[in-house]
Amino acid sequence: SEITKNKVVRVHYTGTHPDSGEVFDSSEGKEPLAFLVGQKQMIPGFERELMGVTQGEKVEFTLPPQDAYGQHDSDKVQQIPLETFGEIAPEVGMTLLSDLGPFIVTEITDESVTVDFNHALAGKSLTFSVEVIEVREATDEEISHGHAHGPGGVQH
Ligand code: ZN
Repeated sequence: SEITKNKVVRVHYTGTHPDSGEVFDSSEGKEPLAFLVGQKQMIPGFERELMGVTQGEKVEFTLPPQDAYGQHDSDKVQQIPLETFGEIAPEVGMTLLSDLGPFIVTEITDESVTVDFNHALAGKSLTFSVEVIEVREATDEEISHGHAHGPGGVQH
């Protein structure tokens, strides 16, 4: 059966940076990832590239930033007074959670900390190697919940 809207798909995937080949995420050694197609659970280009692909097939594709985690938005880079961090000692590269969402510490001076609220993969082209393990019809319950159930999906 082939991948279309409202199918539940289970995939093994490895995501790499196309220029360096460095892996940023992979399902290797884990349960295959399960998702319900057409529910915006995945980045846009990922689903689009898998449309029409059938169970057992392997595909590889590279997505530009706008089809992955979006362009890097400089308005989401902010300087915060160091004292705001209180007892937390920020370090460059650290990901912290705030009321406004997660951010990455990118620079620290004596008085201020530069933080970036963009997704860590924003502004980057990404290559995915995907093996389609299973394609099945979604149940009515999965469609009403808007996500896949079972191994690799939402368990409840
Ligand atoms: Zn559910």
